[in-house]
Amino acid sequence: MSQYHRTAAFHTLGCKLNFAETSTIARQLTEAGYEKVSFDEKANVYVINTCSVTENADRECKLHVKRAMKANPEGLVVIVGCYAQLKPEEISQIEGVDLVLGAKEKFNILSYLDDLEKSGSEGIVHSCEIEETDFFIGSYSIGDRTRAFLKVQDGCDYKCTYCTIPLARGISRSDTIQNVLKNATEIAARDIKEIVLTGVNIGDYGKGEFGNKRHEHTFLDLISELDRVEGIERIRISSIEPNLLKDESIELVSRSKSFVPHFHIPLQSGSDDLLKKMKRRYLTKLYDERVHKIREVMPHAAIGVDVIVGFPGETEERFMETYHFLNDLPITYLHVFTYSERENTEAADMEGVVPIPERKRRNKMLRILSEKKKMAFYQEQLGKTLPVLWEHENKNGKMFGFTENYVRVQKDFDPSSVNKIEWLKLDKIEADGSVSVMSSFKSFLEKI
Ligand code: SF4
Repeated sequence: MSQYHRTAAFHTLGCKLNFAETSTIARQLTEAGYEKVSFDEKANVYVINTCSVTENADRECKLHVKRAMKANPEGLVVIVGCYAQLKPEEISQIEGVDLVLGAKEKFNILSYLDDLEKSGSEGIVHSCEIEETDFFIGSYSIGDRTRAFLKVQDGCDYKCTYCTIPLARGISRSDTIQNVLKNATEIAARDIKEIVLTGVNIGDYGKGEFGNKRHEHTFLDLISELDRVEGIERIRISSIEPNLLKDESIELVSRSKSFVPHFHIPLQSGSDDLLKKMKRRYLTKLYDERVHKIREVMPHAAIGVDVIVGFPGETEERFMETYHFLNDLPITYLHVFTYSERENTEAADMEGVVPIPERKRRNKMLRILSEKKKMAFYQEQLGKTLPVLWEHENKNGKMFGFTENYVRVQKDFDPSSVNKIEWLKLDKIEADGSVSVMSSFKSFLEKI
């Protein structure tokens, strides 16, 4: 490799926010003359954006360092992201790691790369105290060429007793509306059909990007402004805390041409006792009201739920409370997380530890419930003619896409449909759990 032709490879672990931020870091490097290559190719620099929520953050990090070293033993390995902020020293000891950058430093990667050399000894750490992370770096990523993750908010001021995110990402802060609109317009100009609004706690949008100063906007202002931007076909709200999802926002989505009828609302437990122990900011009554409000104005909306099983003190009785609460709610699917102890969290020292096999059993029960809910929802959608955004992937001759209300559909691969929105009639549920559609011609004939 000539010294003038430099290459960089990236690997992202974790959430949509990490994907958006890797894109920003990659853009900085490509603007500085690096060519982006795939992670298994020979590169001058390997950047691994880590996550602390993953079960085995440590193992995953090591695995990808090894991958990088295998692709090029001389390549520089840089670790950024939540895990890098939480455990910088530990990471610097991993064989092959050259540089560890914290939450603030990751966006200055170029200056740290300047004089960096492969040394073979332990990695260099540049990591600030998380309290210093009070600035906002806007970013977006182009995921699979049909959708973009647009970061509007970062950090969290809540103190849920199981969560390390505030330790890794700092206080809640947001981008300005002007900047979000600018990014959204840029994305639309690149023929991306769907934007996913991304953040740690996006309902908390409006906290100033400079220090902890509040600027005058709220989440409702943000979505009202975005709704007016021309050229964006679809906007999805990724996940929003129930206590921050106001009636006005739900009503706006129901009237909107671009916001799609899909909500993802963390519940975590259907037991009020546990919600209190988790220090969540709502009880089941409020959650129930939010779901019913959505159903009242958008009967066809998809509603996803995050839930944790095995939190300390989750007796069989409390677990069954969660089970029945979810079973009775008109929701669409669940994301089930098995609780695992995290250092420096209140929950790690709580009594009533649930044995691991029991946590697994509960996880399985809720996953079965999720499948049941999803199939019932899909069944209700059969026979409807809905817009489908097709993705680029070709899996055994099939292509997949999503309706606005998040039904996963499939048809025979047709390259001319990639990144296109087509109105199609949902036909039947296939063995893999996706829904097949009638051909556009058949759907057209049925319409006339
Ligand atoms: S709302 Fe709670 S769970 Fe979510 S990021 Fe903030 S502290 Fe963590």
